[in-house]
Amino acid sequence: MEVSATKRRLLKVIFLGDSGVGKTSLMNRYVYKKFCLQYKATIGADFMTKELQIDDQLVTLQVWDTAGQERFQSLGAAFYRGADCCVFVYDVNVVKSFESLSSWHEEFLKQAGPADPKAFPFLLLGNKIDVDNGNSRAVSEKRARQWCNSRGNMPYFETSAKEDYNVNEAFLCIAKAALTNEEEQDHYFESISDSVSEVEAGGGGGGGGGGGCAC
Ligand code: GDP
Ligand code: MG
Repeated sequence: MEVSATKRRLLKVIFLGDSGVGKTSLMNRYVYKKFCLQYKATIGADFMTKELQIDDQLVTLQVWDTAGQERFQSLGAAFYRGADCCVFVYDVNVVKSFESLSSWHEEFLKQAGPADPKAFPFLLLGNKIDVDNGNSRAVSEKRARQWCNSRGNMPYFETSAKEDYNVNEAFLCIAKAALTNEEEQDHYFESISDSVSEVEAGGGGGGGGGGGCAC
């Protein structure tokens, strides 16, 4: 049977938002299925990867985390370079984290300089909806959706990394959005992906389910 038609796509996703909103927690929840109450601001790796399948397409999602240096202009060009999707995160209980979003949006446009800013895939996540059963909520869903609508109908998800609420759904949307961006750049990546696929030759069927984790 011919399996050669499927090339694995590498998709780079970056997370932006104020410190403490739960960016690292969301990634850990999705990639490692874990949640911790304490996270070090700095982690060892620049990114985490997760393999998934979207329809017939195998995808490696490369999710870049900030190493706790969430100040404007401090993330460096390598962080932004080649991003296929940009995810903004705020804490629904902290107004300031919502008010910072426009600056993060501008910062992305300035630093990453996507060819077509209107077509570039962005998402917004309102995190920590579990806190105090929603009683300490400071930003309404309506307000968040208005912000998204005024920026080209950005998809919006309300999440809880702690309770594992809506995290998979959000990441699936992220991966699909990133894939549309990458498809537009296909002609550019063709030569690169050809050489990459040689390394992967021999990877047989199976697919799906996560293998045993040694850690
Ligand atoms: P980052 O600075 O944006 O990467 O934020 P972190 O992931 O380090 O999270 C900051 C703090 O918020 C940590 O103490 C997390 O345990 C906590 N946290 C993250 N997500 C949630 C959530 O969905 N609910 C609750 N209750 N706490 C969360
Ligand atoms: Mg972090």
